Amino acid sequence: MVERTLAIIKPDAVRKQVIGDIIQRYEQAGLRPIAMKMVRLSKREAEGFYAVHRERPFFESLTSYMASGPVVVLVLEGEHAITRYRDLMGATDPAKAAPGTIRAIHGASIEANAVHGSDSPETAAFEISYFFPGIELSAC
Ligand code: ADP
Ligand code: MG
Repeated sequence: MVERTLAIIKPDAVRKQVIGDIIQRYEQAGLRPIAMKMVRLSKREAEGFYAVHRERPFFESLTSYMASGPVVVLVLEGEHAITRYRDLMGATDPAKAAPGTIRAIHGASIEANAVHGSDSPETAAFEISYFFPGIELSAC
């Protein structure tokens, strides 16, 4: 089943200058970028994106961090893209992420963990529409 998932290359990874390395890993895994842009989220935009986490103790810090510098947002398409990209990212905490995963390689901390990926088809639909109007995906 061909799926679409939302990926974000987070501020720590952009600062480290590993955008190219991360996108290469997506492509080598068969996750095809079909939309991409660099944006600087406002605090409010970061809060809207992570609204499901608003009761969590790390919400304030997480949304400040996500607004701390530019991010690269992509839609990735491929067979079972959602779970395959979660596997490629590795566990939320880079210290617990499997060797060879993007978070193990590039993550700095449980918060600054290099990349985001949608966790379900419903989340992917919300997250893709948060950043990309349908018109920007229709040519792909
Ligand atoms: P994931 O990104 O793996 O789906 P979550 O959805 O649980 O993880 O959390 C969203 C983001 O919040 C994480 O990617 C990470 O940046 C941050 N985060 C999660 N747990 C913590 C924590 N205990 N302390 C600080 N930041 C956290
Ligand atoms: Mg999540």
